[in-house]
Amino acid sequence: MNAPLFPFLRQAVLCIGIVVACGSWAAAAEPMTLLIVDGQNNHGNWPETTQIMKAALEESGLFSVTVVTHGPNGEDPSFAPDFTAYDVVLSNFGHGAALWSESTRKAFEDYVSNGGGFVVVHAADNSFPEWPAYNEMIGLGGWGGRNEKSGPLVYYNADNKLVRDTSPGRGGSHGPQAPFAIVVRDDDHPITRGMPTLWMHAKDELYNSLRGPAANMEVLATAYSPETKRHEPMLLTIRYGKGRVFHTPMGHANESQQCVGFQTSLIRGCEWAATGEVTAVVPDTFPSADAPSLTPAAAE
Ligand code: ZN
Repeated sequence: MNAPLFPFLRQAVLCIGIVVACGSWAAAAEPMTLLIVDGQNNHGNWPETTQIMKAALEESGLFSVTVVTHGPNGEDPSFAPDFTAYDVVLSNFGHGAALWSESTRKAFEDYVSNGGGFVVVHAADNSFPEWPAYNEMIGLGGWGGRNEKSGPLVYYNADNKLVRDTSPGRGGSHGPQAPFAIVVRDDDHPITRGMPTLWMHAKDELYNSLRGPAANMEVLATAYSPETKRHEPMLLTIRYGKGRVFHTPMGHANESQQCVGFQTSLIRGCEWAATGEVTAVVPDTFPSADAPSLTPAAAE
């Protein structure tokens, strides 16, 4: 009498099983949470670069992006994001900026040292020369009165040796904007694995002579600066407490940020800072050694 019910029951159990499995798969594939902080910058295009980065990160499918904008002038006591709500924080907050409030600085230090991810883009490494913990997080910085007291210059020399140079001089400079070649120095890091060892970055400012504590720092890629005749760091990682920091001095202009190489390294750097691993692939459109490659959005 009950026999005809069995196939139905079995089917019902199977369906429930599939729903549960799909539910947990969906949970595992939830995008990571990423916070962009901006609001002050000597680069007037910062609202645009925030949107370029937000779009690239969201299009990767890996991130859900929130933007929190600091007030435009001086200190803004209302700027107090809950950093701990995010897997990774990206700073597009640049040179000339006021210090964040003391409580926000402390919250940020605690967030990163307790294992939070942090990503530093271009002029964000100009910020806060007077904030020691920030300088440790970014490894190297420029401008804002930085000099030999801020720490060594770090670069690869003509013999391909990594040099920490304590000679006196200012921290931070750049020549005219131009496309330049990126040389991968560590091809076995999650951020650079599978990247061509030489690729042409789109027109950008090539930051040179950055200085800082450079502690627990690794240089993943460099670019040759005609100004200093040294191979300057272009992709960097820093460990700060339990936190992972990815730093790229690239990304001055909208066109610089529309480089597929910039965007791929940014997506991978954010993923690594958040999780310590990278699943984002190097796309077919990645720049070759000879020519830059811009995203389709750059042509619009
Ligand atoms: Zn710039």
